[in-house]
Amino acid sequence: MTGREGANGHSEKARRRAHLALRRLARRLGFAPRNEPRLTELALTRLLPPERWNAMHFLLIAHGREVCSSQRPLCDSCLLEDLCPRQGLRR
Ligand code: SF4
Repeated sequence: MTGREGANGHSEKARRRAHLALRRLARRLGFAPRNEPRLTELALTRLLPPERWNAMHFLLIAHGREVCSSQRPLCDSCLLEDLCPRQGLRR
């Protein structure tokens, strides 16, 4: 494997992880009814105008990394706690 192939593999993995994080967040926050890629994309792109999509993408991924992780979401210290339906999580 060359350096370039390795870098492409890493960026593909990072891209897949980012998409999974977005779907998880969209579902938990109640933006998307199911964890299904096309529905999630549609739901998220309807929330804000196109010029805000990059910022939304970045903020949701950062929130997923720092607060709303897949295994241990920190709901007690989350700024969205009062608004979030925690769809798909046990209460
Ligand atoms: S309240 Fe919990 S489930 Fe909802 S966004 Fe915050 S950490 Fe995630």
